[in-house]
Amino acid sequence: MLILKKYLADEIIDHCKREFPNEACGILAGKEGKAEKVYEMKNADASPSTFLMEPKEQLCIMKDMRNSGVQMTGIYHSHVASQAYPSEHDVKMAFYPEVSYVIISLKDDKNPVIRSFKIQDGKIKEEDVRVG
Ligand SMILES: [Zn+2]
Repeated sequence: MLILKKYLADEIIDHCKREFPNEACGILAGKEGKAEKVYEMKNADASPSTFLMEPKEQLCIMKDMRNSGVQMTGIYHSHVASQAYPSEHDVKMAFYPEVSYVIISLKDDKNPVIRSFKIQDGKIKEEDVRVG
């Protein structure tokens, strides 16, 4: 289960809306599956259908997380025109079996949908998201 405080969920949705029409991406950091902090990242692909986290920026964030005593608990990105479900490309690019892959769909822009998945060995398993 992914536990997300309301203000973090709002922050993520706001980021996704700002990057529209391109996909937004970022990292969730925290402890024991509980997200405490959002790191907004640049989508190096600058694309409406894929995202790529810049390795240099990611290294910086990894260092900051280590210094703050938190771990990467999730990777989020937006789907601007499709449902909040991992694409084939997302599965191929999922290198961290432990983290939650959080997808925010802006398909219905008035009602963004947040869903979360674990992706292990190419298999997608949805997990519950608790916002609050
Ligand atoms: Zn995707």
